Amino acid sequence: MKKPAAWHLDPKSPVDVFETLSGDQTPGLDVDEKDARKVTDELRDELVDLQERLFAGHDRRLLVVLQAMDTGGKDGAIRRVFSGVNPAGVRVVRFEAPTKAELARDYLWRVHAQVPASGEIVIFNRSHYEDVLVVRVNELVPANVWQRRYEHIRAFEKLLADEGTSIVKFYLHIDRDEQKERLQARLDDPEKNWKFDAHDLEQRKRWPQYMHAFRDAIVETDRPHAPWFVIPANRKWYRDYAIMRILVDTLGKLDLEYPKADFDPKTVRID
Ligand code: ATP
Ligand code: MG
Repeated sequence: MKKPAAWHLDPKSPVDVFETLSGDQTPGLDVDEKDARKVTDELRDELVDLQERLFAGHDRRLLVVLQAMDTGGKDGAIRRVFSGVNPAGVRVVRFEAPTKAELARDYLWRVHAQVPASGEIVIFNRSHYEDVLVVRVNELVPANVWQRRYEHIRAFEKLLADEGTSIVKFYLHIDRDEQKERLQARLDDPEKNWKFDAHDLEQRKRWPQYMHAFRDAIVETDRPHAPWFVIPANRKWYRDYAIMRILVDTLGKLDLEYPKADFDPKTVRID
């Protein structure tokens, strides 16, 4: 697969790179929405097959990290990309503000406990990256504390990769105007009221600080064994296509085979 340059962030990118990146882009895809949905559906069949093999092989593991601003579409992407996969082998883990018990330990403790087991796909809806994003932007710890976390995170992900876990990390990028529309929809539509959180408005005020923090987190922790993909996500159909394309490509490279029987099935008779 040829990767559109836009999915990868140049390590030399300026601190305000995400202030100028349009969430409307559709890099690497030159078809319209209708055809893109068709391609995504075809890819989903491949994903379902690959996940079945991963599950049956009980050997490899896949960790999918999803990060975005509020309303960025993490939940929608999970719902749409993973619809149809065997739920026995796929787990979604949400990371919310840490509990008292979690705060009493190091910040990776709760994260490490949730990593995928053999045969499993685990999707992190938010992740350890909050510890260099929301924590940094809201100054929940001193600067020297979050700054050294990039090194921990690099080492943690290297450990997972060395021990057989494939890792892909997605930053779903929406524009500030797009967030405004999505927040407004949560106010206007009674069926979406439950999603509205006044806390999101506070965070929205710190948009430039978040963009800077995302840029740093990605540049500091983008590694071949744990790559970041920057997905323009204003258009949900493009977001779903891009995530699906990358997951199929990642799992496809693992050469997942169904386990060979250690007996000759022809010799077994069922009465
Ligand atoms: P939705 O977009 O559907 O509202 P959400 O991911 O925002 O989903 P919430 O339960 O509303 O889910 O929010 C989780 C909150 O937990 C976020 O505000 C996030 O910043 C916060 N959070 C996650 N991890 C940490 C952390 N390590 N330290 C502090 N806050 C955290
Ligand atoms: Mg929220």
